[in-house]
Amino acid sequence: MKVPREVGKHTRDKVYAENDPYLPPKGKGLVGVAICKDCTAVYQNKKWFLDAKLYEEKKTLKDVTLVTCPACKKTKENVPNGVVTLKGDFLKQHKQEIMNLIHNEDARSKKYNPLKRIMKINEKGDEIEILTTSAKLAQRVGSILFKAYSGEVEYKKHENAKFMRVEWRR
Ligand SMILES: [Zn+2]
Repeated sequence: MKVPREVGKHTRDKVYAENDPYLPPKGKGLVGVAICKDCTAVYQNKKWFLDAKLYEEKKTLKDVTLVTCPACKKTKENVPNGVVTLKGDFLKQHKQEIMNLIHNEDARSKKYNPLKRIMKINEKGDEIEILTTSAKLAQRVGSILFKAYSGEVEYKKHENAKFMRVEWRR
């Protein structure tokens, strides 16, 4: 039996506004309430929320600013902060189950912070490529797969930790 291994795992991720051009610098965010016209995320009190009830409540306000949130901007311009590549025979056999796990993590992440989400899933032959708006989310997807299914996972950080490439194979 192969011994599972995690290569180059980083436990801390530092994605500050200073090294992400899609986020405003500290203290210079939007003022008041804003709504993303693409994903209906609501911005208030310097935080983004993805909450249907809150959206319904805020969309009728007079002084709401309509914007494109940083996550939708990244998606439109195809500028991911994380790329997770999945490969291997086990993946082929358990694809649905594995993708469900990843979708659940995406939902959990978005609920906690709408700016941290999966922006695109590309299937390239036997490989699956997942693009995320957050380096940390890419890392979490790798970590969750490793915990659930073992296999091999590798993490590569780039450019002051704002971009992470993860590869999981089994
Ligand atoms: Zn949005």
